[in-house]
Amino acid sequence: MIIKKSLKKSRLTLALFAGVALLSACSEPAVPDAKIAKMTSIQVIKDITYLASDDLKGRASFSPEIDKAGEYISQRFTEIGLSPLEGNKDFKQTFKVTSIVPESLTVTLNGIAIAEESLAMASTIATLSWKNIEDVEIHIIGEADDMRKSLGAMNNAGGQHLVIIHSAHAKMFAGYKGYFQRGLTKLSLDHQGAIVMVLADDNKITSIDVNATISITEKELTNIVAVLPGTAKNTKTANETVLYSSHYDHLGVTPDGKEVFNGADDDASGTSAVINLAQHFASKGDNKRTLMFSTFTAEEIGGFGSKYFSQQLNPDDVVAMINIEMIGKPSKFGAGTLWMTGMERSNLGELLNASLKANNTEVYEDPYPEQGLFYRSDNATLARLGVPAHSFSSTQLDKDQHYHQTSDDISSLDLDSMYKVIESLSVATQGLVDGSMTPTRIDMSKVRAKGKIY
Ligand SMILES: [Zn+2]
Repeated sequence: MIIKKSLKKSRLTLALFAGVALLSACSEPAVPDAKIAKMTSIQVIKDITYLASDDLKGRASFSPEIDKAGEYISQRFTEIGLSPLEGNKDFKQTFKVTSIVPESLTVTLNGIAIAEESLAMASTIATLSWKNIEDVEIHIIGEADDMRKSLGAMNNAGGQHLVIIHSAHAKMFAGYKGYFQRGLTKLSLDHQGAIVMVLADDNKITSIDVNATISITEKELTNIVAVLPGTAKNTKTANETVLYSSHYDHLGVTPDGKEVFNGADDDASGTSAVINLAQHFASKGDNKRTLMFSTFTAEEIGGFGSKYFSQQLNPDDVVAMINIEMIGKPSKFGAGTLWMTGMERSNLGELLNASLKANNTEVYEDPYPEQGLFYRSDNATLARLGVPAHSFSSTQLDKDQHYHQTSDDISSLDLDSMYKVIESLSVATQGLVDGSMTPTRIDMSKVRAKGKIY
């Protein structure tokens, strides 16, 4: 199955290559004397073709293949002549996360042992032993209650909770159980807490006996981060950073291993954009501000790459974060157009649009506010620290048949539209790069915090 799929794809890619090669042969004159090659659509296609290839097996966090993707991005950053972060020997920003899996759980309520299939747990506490009803907060989620909302409130509060859930919510219970059983990943275990869920119709609990253990292991993850130092040396401007980012992880392969989640749009497209914007600005060389190009790991499993990254720098130095997510297909506003999340939270969009006026194009407002996309990518982490951090996208998420499917491969993209989006971003953000444009900060008190337990 995989072989057939990749054969089909490579033929198409070759055709695309040929088409773009012809196009760019006419429109992009070679610059033999330039130190750093200019951004070209051919290179963009090369990058995305490799990153979305079956060889990388869907770039799952913790897999050997995501490391191959990381090597490729590093190699491109080297070619472009970028520098590692201060104090780093290469572009890898490696860190540890804790992986937690429920190990054992037994619950007795009012003297009756509960069957395993009616139990679920999210816990970051090594050993739980609740013998008295005073040991824990007990919640009853009745037939008419909003289960998701109640659990969300507990997750935000942290602490230790025993939740008795009415059987009317059995289906949703099963969903949470499956999710919790796969385990939790945590950057730190600072917030210790536990939610033990019991599917039962009891609403009067007089005695409890709850015992649980979890297994904790440490694993490594790696962001790939490069710097183009600001040319306004020894000035305030050079200390100011403009951050271009994407995530280079994706979902791996199907459980039977037969199909690959290539993640061409999500987010090989954004990653190719980040690499090639680096190429563009390095070849221009007029970046008074320092530019940082970060491709994050582990976005799909909880945003740990951006979380760790945000703790390694002073967020006050970051003037703006241009996070690029899924730009491989035309937006609802037409081919080559894009929109941004959280436009109302800073005046970045306004400034970008002033720059785009001459090109007769604009960055549109997120057309899917009900989807909460501002919170569904790495920008939210930096926004919580006050950075004007937004995601830029062109996905038609309301009707995208390929989103988080194995069909999100290169054949589903419109690479011409994607290249136009990257070009627009290069024009729109020029003022950030040369220091002539400074957006307002995001009000962090208005950015929702992340849950503490799961
Ligand atoms: Zn995704």
